Amino acid sequence: MSHNPIRDEFRAGLARGELLVQKCNDCGGLNMYPRHACPHCQSSSLGWQKASGRGVLHSFTVLRMGAPIGFEADLPYALGVVKLEEGVQLLTRLVPDANGDWDSYACDVPVEYVPMSGDSIACQSAAWFRHTSSK
Ligand SMILES: [Zn+2]
Repeated sequence: MSHNPIRDEFRAGLARGELLVQKCNDCGGLNMYPRHACPHCQSSSLGWQKASGRGVLHSFTVLRMGAPIGFEADLPYALGVVKLEEGVQLLTRLVPDANGDWDSYACDVPVEYVPMSGDSIACQSAAWFRHTSSK
């Protein structure tokens, strides 16, 4: 993969168990995904804020076949769009239920960030989430 300092910073946060959201040092706006200039004020002075990790599942899909190249061995897996309580959205991986499926997931359920070990995110920069109503 090509060198990408912004993506690397996000991924390094995941490896530490932290979900990072880019924050503009000038206007305080939050950006997800991270970029080189603030979409609110065009500032290039951008930092990071640790997100709470809490949010709501906006939509999700379970992939059973037809994975992108490089992800075939992961099948089946679920991708979800999570809206964080900070107001930004990101594409995430969803932790399966105990039976290995995602039957208990539904749109608008509360979800939380699940820190993963560095190994499991080594080849991808996705954050993992699970819904919080099952516990
Ligand atoms: Zn800004």
